Amino acid sequence: MTQAISPRSRKVRVLATLGPASDTPEMIERLFVAGADAFRINMSHGDQASKIPLFEAIRAMEKRIGRPTTILADLQGPKLRVGKFAEGKIILRTGHEFILDRDPTPGDETRVELPHREIFEAAHPDARLLLDDGKLVLRVVSVAGDRMTTIVEVGGPLSNSKGLNVPDMVLPLAALTDKDRSDLAFAVEQGADWIALSFVQRPEDLMEARRLIGGKAALLAKIEKPSAIARLDEIMEQCDGVMVARGDLGVELPPQSVPPLQKRIVETARRLGRPVIVATQMLESMIDSPSPTRAEVSDVATAVYDGADAIMLSAESAAGQWPVESVAMMNSIADAVERDPAHGDRVHFTVTHPDPTTADALAEAAKNIARTVSAAAIICFTSSGSTARRIARERPPVPIMGLTPRLETARRLGLLWGMHAVQTRDVESFEEMVAKAKRMALRHHIATAGDRVVLCAGVPFKTPGSTNVLHVVTIVGDELTSYRGPEGG
Ligand code: PGA
Ligand code: MN
Repeated sequence: MTQAISPRSRKVRVLATLGPASDTPEMIERLFVAGADAFRINMSHGDQASKIPLFEAIRAMEKRIGRPTTILADLQGPKLRVGKFAEGKIILRTGHEFILDRDPTPGDETRVELPHREIFEAAHPDARLLLDDGKLVLRVVSVAGDRMTTIVEVGGPLSNSKGLNVPDMVLPLAALTDKDRSDLAFAVEQGADWIALSFVQRPEDLMEARRLIGGKAALLAKIEKPSAIARLDEIMEQCDGVMVARGDLGVELPPQSVPPLQKRIVETARRLGRPVIVATQMLESMIDSPSPTRAEVSDVATAVYDGADAIMLSAESAAGQWPVESVAMMNSIADAVERDPAHGDRVHFTVTHPDPTTADALAEAAKNIARTVSAAAIICFTSSGSTARRIARERPPVPIMGLTPRLETARRLGLLWGMHAVQTRDVESFEEMVAKAKRMALRHHIATAGDRVVLCAGVPFKTPGSTNVLHVVTIVGDELTSYRGPEGG
């Protein structure tokens, strides 16, 4: 990684899901240029082999552009889906009967396969089956072995493998399916930086994933089940980050309960210092239209004002007609909100008191100093990323530059609010630290001559958990040429 390009000026991160509309190296780069900081590879669709070129394209681009880039591999989890149709798609007619069975023969207007034994066991008359994000509703009339008769309460088009939610049934499903275990091993092997777990219900659900990941990636919990809400704090303690997965959350629960929950999840995550992604339908109408609705723009803006770490595009970038435009739109909304002079105050409506640790005391002080002396940036030296995370948690008014010798750390930090992570060689001395911070600030266009920056580091160097130094320096401007540490770079 040599050539440096300017970091994004905005603090909130944009996460774009890749899919058929964006699965070429050219498209991935166009999404990056339009504003995508991180990419989601959705293991729910397509096979493992089809994902390898995505990992390769992102890593090749990362090398070319010289900026650590974050890959989040999203495991399907115990997601329920209907089978396939002979014609690919049918129309379910309101008031008509519709049969679900375990026969893999492609379905038609009268029946389709439901490849989940557990549902036949748990189903009971009157229970609802919600299809395609709750757009269609079936009500169970009777169940006999592998055959369930339903009445279509709300009809409409239904295509292959659409999702299914059963809010009226309790299903005995493990958090990680066999497919998830295989996909997890694959994603870790391919170098995913974050692994997302779907339909987390209990804190224990995360423990097995944590063990299987073996420290090779960070773990993200998707909050999309009512049972996860009930144990939110405990779930957050067990993971490294969370997603407000509003798609399934808004099917499992009435949609009007999602906005208060979104606020609560974002606030809890910020309090505990876990990065939080707001996801799903953010610019939904841009799947088919080059411009969003005003309500969607407002929704994206709300997540930015609430101080979420990242905002996500799903089908808009993965399968829509306007993937680049969707990213560009999200980018401009975020820019506009962050230029609002009231943005900082609104972000700090959520109060996050520092934990009684040296790291938090320094993180809070770094923010205050940066504000008082109008510093251009906070620069922190971080090995595991934990110092950087605590500084990001403070939501300082300036960019945070995280300098780390570990490329994996730099990539994982890419989901964090305000973070510009750079991989660089370790420093050996205080003088070297100061010189390197100045040089990196200039090289990455995060400060210019005359600017002050706040440095945060641990002495002795190379000792994790030793963060104990705050230092304010003024950039003179000749740092790029006047000093090179023992190892350059
Ligand atoms: P999904 O998760 O896109 O994998 O379903 C996000 C959500 O449910 O909102
Ligand atoms: Mn979901």
